[in-house]
Parts: sequence; C-alpha cells; structure tokens
Amino acid sequence: MKKHPLAKLDQQHLWHPFTQMRDWLKGEPLVIERGKGALLWDVRGREYIDANSSIWTNLHGHNHPKINAAIRRQLGKVAHTSALGLASGPSSLLGRELVRLANPRTGLAKGQPRLAKVFYSDDGSTAVEVALKLAYEFARRTGRARKPRFLSLDGAYHGDTVGAVSAGHIDLFHKAYSGMLFKTDKVMSPYCYRCPFNQAKPERGDARDSRKCNFECVDKVEQQFAARKKRGSNYAAMLIEPGLQGPAGMIAQPKGWLGRVAQIARGHGTQLIADEVMTGLGRAGDRFFASHDEGVQPDFLCLAKGLTGGYLPMAATLTTQDIFDEFLGEYAEFKTFFHGHSYTGNALGSAASLASIELLQTKATTNKRKKLATNLRTEAKRLWALPQVGDIRQAGCVLAVELVRDWRTRAPFALDEQAGIRVCNGLAKRGVLTRPVGNVIVVMPSFCTTQRQVKKIFGTLHDSIAETLKQP
Ligand code: PMP
Repeated sequence: MKKHPLAKLDQQHLWHPFTQMRDWLKGEPLVIERGKGALLWDVRGREYIDANSSIWTNLHGHNHPKINAAIRRQLGKVAHTSALGLASGPSSLLGRELVRLANPRTGLAKGQPRLAKVFYSDDGSTAVEVALKLAYEFARRTGRARKPRFLSLDGAYHGDTVGAVSAGHIDLFHKAYSGMLFKTDKVMSPYCYRCPFNQAKPERGDARDSRKCNFECVDKVEQQFAARKKRGSNYAAMLIEPGLQGPAGMIAQPKGWLGRVAQIARGHGTQLIADEVMTGLGRAGDRFFASHDEGVQPDFLCLAKGLTGGYLPMAATLTTQDIFDEFLGEYAEFKTFFHGHSYTGNALGSAASLASIELLQTKATTNKRKKLATNLRTEAKRLWALPQVGDIRQAGCVLAVELVRDWRTRAPFALDEQAGIRVCNGLAKRGVLTRPVGNVIVVMPSFCTTQRQVKKIFGTLHDSIAETLKQP
C-alpha cells in the first residue's frame, strides 16, 4: 500500500520527542484523525483503543461534549490574554477550584500545610521547574539551607527541562546533559519487585502483596537525611511522585511508604514537592490526589497532564501562603518570583480544566473510576499465565505489567532487546495503542473505557506478549 500523504509529510518535516528517528523513518507512522471516548481512528479509518490516554493525559475520553462546549464558550469570548499584568475569569475560577480540591476537609494528618496559591505554567516539566525554583529560594531566604539541595528517588523522571532533568535520576539523560545539570541526591525507591531487601520468592501476584522486608527503603531515606545533617546541611525539598513512580517504570509504592517518608522529611524541616503530574486528578489514587491517600499534604503540588482533561497544555503548581509571603516586599527589594511563560493561565486551558474538574466530581465519574479500577484488576489476571509476565502492579486507574525473561528468576530483558516496544507494536497491529516504559507495559485508559474495551486490551496484550516474546 502506498504511504499516506500525511504520513509522508510527517516523515519529511517533523522530529518526534523521545523517538529514535531512524526507526521512525523506516515504517509508516499511524496518523490519528479523530477520537471519541476511549477510541481513536487513523486516517485510513482503522480503530484503536487509546490504552495510555494519549501519554497519560486524557481523563474523561476524547471529544467529550462538556469539555468541547466549555472550550467553545470561551473561544467565543477570547482565547488568550496574558497573565503578565492582567487577570482573567477562567484562570481565577480555576484557581479557586484547585485550592478547594487540594484541601479536603477530611483524611489528612494533622498539622500539615494548606495549599493556598496557584502558579500556572504549561507542562509537567514546567510545573516541577516552578516548584524547584520556589523551594530553592524559600530555603535560601529563610536560612533553612545555605546551599539548597534536592533529594529525589532513584530512577525518577520529573520532566525534560534542565531543572527537572537535574532533579530526576535517569542515567541515560544525565549522561547526555551532564555538563548542563545541577547536582541533586537520590535515595532508593520502594521498588518491591526488584528490591534487594525483599526476601520473598517471585509469586504470581503484585510483589508488594508478598513482600518480606522491614521497610528498609524507608530506613534508607532516614539515613540519607542523617548524612546530610552530619555535613551541617539540609535538603531544601524532597521531590516525590506519590503512590506511583510513573516514568521510572510504574513503580507502585507499598502502602505506608509515603506517609513514613513524608514524616521523615518534615522532621528534618525539609519541604515536600509532590509531582502529581501523572498521578493527580483521580488517575492513580482513590482520592483526587495520590498524596491524600496516605494523608499527606505536600508543600508543593505539581499538576499537568490530566488538568485540562487531556485537551490542552496547561500546568499548575500549588503552594502555601508561607512560601508566597516570602516573595512579598517593596518593589525595589526585587523579591518577585522572576518566572513565567507567555501562555501562563491560558483561558481555553482554564475553561477546559474547569469543565474537567466539574466532571471529575460527579457521582458518575466516581463510579466510572471505581469500575475501571476493578475491570483492570480482573482482566489483567489472565496475564499471569504467561512466563514473561513478572509483576503486575496497579494504582487506581493505572495498571503496569513488567515483562521478564522468566518470572521464576525475575531475569530482565536487556533494554536494547526492545521487548516492551515490540509488544506494543504487536498491540497497535491489533487495535490497541500504548507505549511502554522500558520493559513495562502501561495500561492507563480514560475513565470512560468500558468493560468490553478493557477485556479487549488484555486479550490483545496476552496475545501480543505470547507471540512477540515466545521462546524458541
Ligand atoms: N512528571 C511526571 C511524573 C511525568 O510523568 C511527566 C511526563 N511523563 C513529567 C513530569 C513531565 O511532564 P511533561 O511531559 O508534560 O513536561
């Protein structure tokens, strides 16, 4: 079949993110034309289930009538005006909603901060970048740390801007950009399936459920803080993805880990930055924010991906009155937060976000989230029959399948064998779209995905793994 003209144009002119373009240019890319609910169609009319919600952004489904209408309404007024010097209705209303949503009346441990202010930006990386800069300045100005430094988890990815890369710990990116980055410290992440302290033998079940350990990963955090203190210093902030470390390989945290770690950080006077870019807004927790599932309220809450329901690039960094106040002063003191983007607080994005948040709070969506979480759990069970499935872990409406050479040994595939990529290519051929993180297959569909569609995702995944990774 002749290449589609739009596919040709793409290959002629575009450069895709996190993509080996030599491989991209070899085939014919899928050109997506339209979507409805959990489904997408390409320009050749082929139908796909969007099993990763268009890189973890879409919450309620594509082409949602309520979000469409909200954007159209706003479009009839004005698409964008600058937040540098002007206020706008949609961004103010969204600020109020975010603050309300982020400060639930119940379920948080006592004595924790209240999130009072919203700083907008454009993407997950910039939401994190804002938190880093604010935490840095706050620590410096208040004398909490002379040379403020950050602590984050091994394998963490918090975005691809220079600050966010520095705060993460993916060796591959660090090597590429090492000369441009600032130094941050890392501590072990609670990766039960591959934890050196977990004495449990491999089982056909989520490794967290059978773990045999004494939370040594939490001790490691305490030791890291103690070592810093011994050197007469402290961390400005600890950066965590609550509940589920996504791009690191969908590492779902054992219950109790976050609460313990948050307490340690607070005990040392270190602030908490919660990167809920992926987990937030009902995606990976029972509550709207995964931090709250453990009763933790961070000092910074970073939101992006699902904020607009997956429609437009928009991000928010929520923080406390204390931090806000530290930036107040006479004009000439120049205590201003010198940071901001042209599209900050965009009106269309704010209107979409307001509509999405309204949907999120309906009983119907709560039921959909619950049903989807149950369906994912139930339908994934069939994968345990495959010897190349090592771990299946779930957090809310996110499910991850770690592929291994043999489940009995947990022996991993080498990254350059591209096991995850090949399995996902097999899925795409069968009408299911997702993208792996390394050898971990991510299943993260929109909340509207039906039981039949979930069944199809896992039936297809089963077949693709069995066929792609079959032993000779
Ligand atoms: N933090 C987390 C946890 C993420 O998953 C991502 C994106 N995968 C980012 C930050 C960066 O977000 P963005 O790609 O929107 O800049």
